[in-house]
Amino acid sequence: MKHHSIKTYRRIIQISVAITFIILPLLNQLGFTFIWGNFLNIHIGPLNLTDPLAVLQITLKNLYFPPRLLMSTGIVLIIAMCFGTIFCSWICPFGLLSELVHGLAKRVLPDSFKKLNFQNSGFKIKIYILASGLLFFFLFCTTPIINQVSMPFWYSQIFQYLFIQKHVSFAVLFVAVILFTEFISRKRLWCRYICPQSFLLVIAKLLNPFHLKVGYHNEKCISNKNNNPCQKACSLSLDPRTLSNLLETECNNCGDCVVACNKLGKALNFQFSRHFS
Ligand code: SF4
Ligand code: SF4
Repeated sequence: MKHHSIKTYRRIIQISVAITFIILPLLNQLGFTFIWGNFLNIHIGPLNLTDPLAVLQITLKNLYFPPRLLMSTGIVLIIAMCFGTIFCSWICPFGLLSELVHGLAKRVLPDSFKKLNFQNSGFKIKIYILASGLLFFFLFCTTPIINQVSMPFWYSQIFQYLFIQKHVSFAVLFVAVILFTEFISRKRLWCRYICPQSFLLVIAKLLNPFHLKVGYHNEKCISNKNNNPCQKACSLSLDPRTLSNLLETECNNCGDCVVACNKLGKALNFQFSRHFS
């Protein structure tokens, strides 16, 4: 029987989620209500999941902590505490689009574009952006605003607007511009440097040092400077052999490096461990 890699299962789930959020508004209009909502707040039967960033803004601004809201976001954070930011690599439709665009750019762009390089400080930049957004929100706003730059939220909103309110959202252009920028830069800029949606998920995983992570076993590594399939496989341009705590904030446990490594040896694996090796 053919053995499928973790990447195959990941793609199946990513595509299924992406398609679900396209057809969900239509199904809801036809009376299907088992699943409804968007990436800010979704109901799946009796289960309610809410974006932690929206809850943070609502609760701190109003100093009001409704248990149902905390529970609905607590589930999301507990998943991140155990398994890391797998929302980004297995669920988020923008993550899927960004990965596909990145893969296309790697194949078709000339070598000169490959030289573009960015410093490895995506999480630090996210901290500055989020802190500015939160300050603006607390000083001038009454409703959560940071989620207005949430790509998964806009992905689901685009189809809600299209099928329920019958108009094309401005967000289509916004998403297209970001993806085009990522295409010509050959970097997953939004996910690595800007996206506020993933920020609290990263904080949640850092609270649990034993969360699922990629482990590197130097003694089993057969790569050298010119042959590093794991690093080449990482769409976020990380080197899983040197995942320090800072860089680890950016790894979303997609497993592409593990798959690439396992074709040659077994130096990388997933583990629930405090350490990377
Ligand atoms: S970083 Fe943001 S846009 Fe990227 S995959 Fe994660 S939630 Fe989605
Ligand atoms: S280091 Fe590996 S698991 Fe982490 S994002 Fe890169 S390819 Fe995915």
